Amino acid sequence: MVHCTTAFFNGDSRMPTPPRIPIFQRIPVGISQCLLGDKVRFDAGHKHDPYITGTLSRYFDFVAVCPEVAIGLGVPREPIRLVGGTTAPRAVGVHTVTLDVTDQLHAYGQQQARELRYLCGYIFKHASPSCGMGRVKIYNRQGIARKAGQGIYARAFMAQQPLIPCEQEDRLGDPELRENFIQRVWVLHRWRNMRASRISAAKLLDFHHRHTCIVLAHHPRAYKKLSRLAAGMTKTKLDEQADAYILELMTALKRIATPKQHAHVLQQLLGYLKSYLDDTDKQEMLETIRRYQCGEVPLIVPITLLKHHFRRHPDPYIEQQYYLTPGMEE
Ligand code: SF4
Repeated sequence: MVHCTTAFFNGDSRMPTPPRIPIFQRIPVGISQCLLGDKVRFDAGHKHDPYITGTLSRYFDFVAVCPEVAIGLGVPREPIRLVGGTTAPRAVGVHTVTLDVTDQLHAYGQQQARELRYLCGYIFKHASPSCGMGRVKIYNRQGIARKAGQGIYARAFMAQQPLIPCEQEDRLGDPELRENFIQRVWVLHRWRNMRASRISAAKLLDFHHRHTCIVLAHHPRAYKKLSRLAAGMTKTKLDEQADAYILELMTALKRIATPKQHAHVLQQLLGYLKSYLDDTDKQEMLETIRRYQCGEVPLIVPITLLKHHFRRHPDPYIEQQYYLTPGMEE
């Protein structure tokens, strides 16, 4: 399912907006609209990404946004680009330098950050002066470009929504970056589901325990701090402490989980099976983990084998770990 919010911008980022949240069947993820194949680019073209509309759309409901159309630039339109310094570049017309839409794009980014606060992720179009997350070209007075900018809309959105995992479509081709993004989307989705009902210290601690292996694979050092936060919840400040916890967790998970850290976690999980597996099964498991660490097989291979053994020898602690049920095995 695709929701399009592009047409809603009223030009005033201070206007209170209705807190209506659409009903989604899958995880709501924001997206640069041209990536879905909609002809909203300056040249009336699109940048359809088949991985997004094929594989990811089976798990995500996309909320499509084209900030340039939303601020009234129309299709087709004069292309814009970033000019000036890296800290505060301006988005101006390529042919008409007096066409400056920086403030509108920034205001729209802030407005969307408020309206789309329910999103669990956002996929931006790379290299766009509006939507690019990083390495967007900024031109100096001589017309020489440096890949050092962020799209004006994306920058405003991300500054106001530090929890929402963001990624560019070109980086989703990298298996580690893709896994990291999808993992974070799922974690935030589970968090939002949990927070949809009344929070309690026990619920939060349970959430923390279920994410133990995921955190250990991404950022072992952050695990201690997160455990302290999760264990130190007090009734009077629960909302505040829960907010601090999820911000710390989402920040920790930005770190890419290395094969070495995954292998360490897999070996720890194997430890729970040591009294059940015979030597042949243990050797096969260790060899599969080694092959994963060397890059010979993907992570899903040792995970699938472990799940197979845990099905035969269930363990209540392991059954709760989201690490073994990533949600999207493709
Ligand atoms: S990159 Fe962003 S602004 Fe440009 S066409 Fe795509 S959605 Fe619209």
